[in-house]
Amino acid sequence: MAEVQRGFDEDESLDHALMVDGNAVAGLLYEIFAMEVTTGEAECVSCGKRAEIGSLLAFTQAPGVVLRCPRCENIVMRIVQTAEAIYLDARGVTYLRLDNLSRG
Ligand SMILES: [Zn+2]
Repeated sequence: MAEVQRGFDEDESLDHALMVDGNAVAGLLYEIFAMEVTTGEAECVSCGKRAEIGSLLAFTQAPGVVLRCPRCENIVMRIVQTAEAIYLDARGVTYLRLDNLSRG
């Protein structure tokens, strides 16, 4: 994880050209949660904004995925896949709300 985190926190000028929205990582999120989560809700620890996971700012050009708050650009989640495991760092969310009805 340390290698992936380097460079993000001190980067003041985010390159928005490299950003997509959370729907771009729907497949990866489905792998982790085994359910559709882009319509779920995440509350940002930093500013309190509640946003659909699919509307988070996604930065996918790193050796992992970084999801940021669409209001304050705080990092809400980091996801790194290795050959052995998936690492999910979700310290930037107060909570995730995932809809039970979308379970298979
Ligand atoms: Zn925020």
